[in-house]
Order: sequence, then structure tokens, then C-alpha cells
Amino acid sequence: MSRRPARRAPSPRLLLKRLYGVYPEPRCELRFEGPLELLVATILSAQCTDERVNLVTRSLFEKYRGPEDYLAVPPEELEADIRSTGFFRNKARSIRGACGRILEAYDGRVPGTMRDLLTLPGVARKTANVVLGTVFGKAEGIAVDTHVTRLSRLLGLTTQSDPVKIERELMSRFPRRHWIALSHLLILHGRRVCAARRPNCAACVLNDVCPAAFRHERGEARRPVRRPTAPPAAGSGS
Ligand code: SF4
Repeated sequence: MSRRPARRAPSPRLLLKRLYGVYPEPRCELRFEGPLELLVATILSAQCTDERVNLVTRSLFEKYRGPEDYLAVPPEELEADIRSTGFFRNKARSIRGACGRILEAYDGRVPGTMRDLLTLPGVARKTANVVLGTVFGKAEGIAVDTHVTRLSRLLGLTTQSDPVKIERELMSRFPRRHWIALSHLLILHGRRVCAARRPNCAACVLNDVCPAAFRHERGEARRPVRRPTAPPAAGSGS
């Protein structure tokens, strides 16, 4: 493919066609059974890899079966159990806060609407979108993590750096039926090909339509996206 970068963002149709070609069944790579496990895993995934989260949740989900279990132990015990995912104090606070609210207001079940999910402490739109899209099959928005943020900017789909504004822009560009998959596609592509430190443009199926193609090789600086120093934007960032 051409080494001359495209001037404009690729059309949503073309972008989806190319990415579906590489990732025909895009899906969440976190391991879970049911909404509560996905909610907890998504909170843990802030500033952490899915591999690490899956390692931790293997034993975590054996020990904590329902929302009441996360509240039945001292906070320090939960913190120790999730320590290796980083930012463990904030994450433990979010998990316990969310579980408390789930028990208090939702009869012990994770709610299935954006409005209700956003009432859970520590849950912002990213986490809510992941849970809604992955376990409830509802596209109320698009989950925007650090990969989605970075790739959307590189591909010229947005100039925003705020996840909520990026989400709004992507929602206006892409048909709703692709919202859930779009997030997975960009995350998979960010992990496998368009790595933050060294995007592999030569191997990228978008390199003839991406305005940032081969920029890294040409040594051009990219405008950095401001990263949070702590997560619990458990749902807003990565
Ligand atoms: S790998 Fe290169 S061509 Fe592909 S999306 Fe990333 S910057 Fe663009």
C-alpha cells in the first residue's frame, strides 16, 4: 500500500470493512461470567492490561461470587486481592461503592441501562458502555478507552481528547449497529498493530487511508493525549 499519508479520515464504511476483514469477530477480551464479573473486570482494567486482569480475576471471582461478598471483607483484603492491577485502593473503593449501590437500589443485580449504571460509584460512560454492549447487547454509546482515543485521533476521526466528546463524535459518524463492535475493533487494532510506542504501519490494513500512516517512521511528533495520573474514572479512560 501507499506510503503517502491520506489527507482525510477514512469513511466509516471503508474503515469498518477493513477492520472487520482482520478481526471478523470483535469481542471483549476480559474473562467473565455475567454482568457483575464484567463490571468488576472493567473497573480493574483501567490502566492495566486485560491479560493481567484475567490473571487476577481467575481467583477473585472464585472468592467473590455476589456483590455482598465484596462488602463482607475489610477493604484492605479486597485491595490486597486486586493489588497487581495497580491503583488498587481507588479500584477497591469503586468496586465496593458499586456493589453497595447495586444491593441498595437494584436488588443485588447490575442494572441494564446507561442512566442506572451511571449512578454506581466509580462507573463512568466507558465502563457502562462495555457492560451494556457486552452483556446486555445494548448500544447506548461507544466505549472509549485509551486505544479508542488514540486510534480515533490518528485516523482523523476526531481532534478531541476528552473521551465523552470523542464518543459523541464517533456516535455521529458511525451507524448505531456498529457501535459495540467499533470499540472492540479499535481496541484490537491498537493492541495488535497500532501500538502506542511503535505503530506497525507497514503491516496495517489502513495505511493507505490513515492520515497518520508512517508518521512515526518519519519522526514527526504527535500531539500527546493527556493521560490521567489515577484511574477511577473507572469508566472514562482506559
Ligand atoms: S498503524 Fe499506522 S497506518 Fe495503521 S492506524 Fe496506526 S498510525 Fe495509522
